[in-house]
Amino acid sequence: MAIYYHCRQCGTEMGTISTSEAKQRDLGFDVLSRQDQEEMMHVDQAGHVHMDILCESCHEATALNPELHEQQRWVH
Ligand SMILES: [Zn+2]
Repeated sequence: MAIYYHCRQCGTEMGTISTSEAKQRDLGFDVLSRQDQEEMMHVDQAGHVHMDILCESCHEATALNPELHEQQRWVH
């Protein structure tokens, strides 16, 4: 089992962590509400976890343009 991080805005793949390397605590899951976790995490049929997060450039873009938060996806 592994955890895959993708940018939820531009789809960039941001890395993969095998769960033998990281416990949930290290990933910051314990600071997320249960609802946040359920929205961000998707488990595929193979049991791998996919995390929808923001990459740095999208994070900056949304910080500068808060209304972009309302869009599901855009192209850089
Ligand atoms: Zn992005």
